[in-house]
Amino acid sequence: MPANPKLFEFIVDRVNVGLFVIDKNMNIVLWNNFMAINSGLSAEQVVGENLFKRFPELPQKWLERKIEGVYILKNFSFTSWEQRPFLFKFDHNRPITGGVDYMRQDTTFFPVKDEAGEVQFVCVTLLDVTDTSIYQSMLKEATRKLAEIRIRDGLTGIFNRRHLENTISKEFSRVKRYGSTLTFLLLDLDYFKKINDNYGHLAGDTVLRQSAKLISECIRDADTLGRYGGEEFGVILPETNLDGALVLAERLRKIVNQQKIQHDDLQLEVTVSIGVAEFAPDIDRYESLIDRADHALYQSKENGRNRVAAYSPETEKDN
Ligand code: GH3
Ligand code: MG
Ligand code: MG
Repeated sequence: MPANPKLFEFIVDRVNVGLFVIDKNMNIVLWNNFMAINSGLSAEQVVGENLFKRFPELPQKWLERKIEGVYILKNFSFTSWEQRPFLFKFDHNRPITGGVDYMRQDTTFFPVKDEAGEVQFVCVTLLDVTDTSIYQSMLKEATRKLAEIRIRDGLTGIFNRRHLENTISKEFSRVKRYGSTLTFLLLDLDYFKKINDNYGHLAGDTVLRQSAKLISECIRDADTLGRYGGEEFGVILPETNLDGALVLAERLRKIVNQQKIQHDDLQLEVTVSIGVAEFAPDIDRYESLIDRADHALYQSKENGRNRVAAYSPETEKDN
């Protein structure tokens, strides 16, 4: 016992930490003010009572194991809110916008020993760490958003060129190593400059946004669509051969051609030219696969635009 029990009691009650003590039979021996306020049950109401009878919602098995451990090892133990968000279902007074339902608690279990060094009681403390958990989830969310922004194109919301190139680089290495196949489509809107010149840059932006949306709705989850340049898009098609890619390219060409894009009271139309290139074992770098798609795209433009062309070595020699 401390020299001044009154002072001891005063501190235990004033400290902004949950503190309670239980004996070997899981009966409550001490219950401080923090516990009383948050549970709505005063010390008079709970001291002498069995902890689990009073609080049947407690995780009994886990708690018994924890407390037994303290009796046996005669040492303290600690559980952070990240392992177990809370022991008692206490409300907290933070705004609900924080996204945390109940008070987050760090829990510590101390042995209270007698003169012989035997554990007589176990003292449990609860530290309210709700703020920490709120800040941590805010930080996580901000980090997630930043990572997302890093890979997205600001105008269209599809992936940006950096992410497109990272993805094709990975896919390329995978195919190079394990076989199977991969195709790349390069799409370029036709006479796009005219849309800007005739209807304004904002109209051009709408055409880009709508076309990107339309294309993204036509590809599979495994495919990757990105904005490769101003009015150019790239699509990576893993596990897809040239024939399959040509079918998709033709479908994309058609739907772009058919779409009516509303901008203010204007209805705009646009067409797209597409170049398709398939992985071949003689290609050493992913950049060369993109180059081949670019050659094929050039061919589509040469042939009159609003069409699809596959890369072929012969046409490359002509250029
Ligand atoms: P082609 O059929 O040969 O592809 O002709 P084009 O007019 O589409 O090609 P060009 O490369 O001459 O013009 C592309 C235009 O795209 C020029 C550029 O100002 C415009 N552009 C690039 N990025 C954006 C953008 O973010 N918004 C808008 N509105 N225009 C853009
Ligand atoms: Mg272009
Ligand atoms: Mg163009």
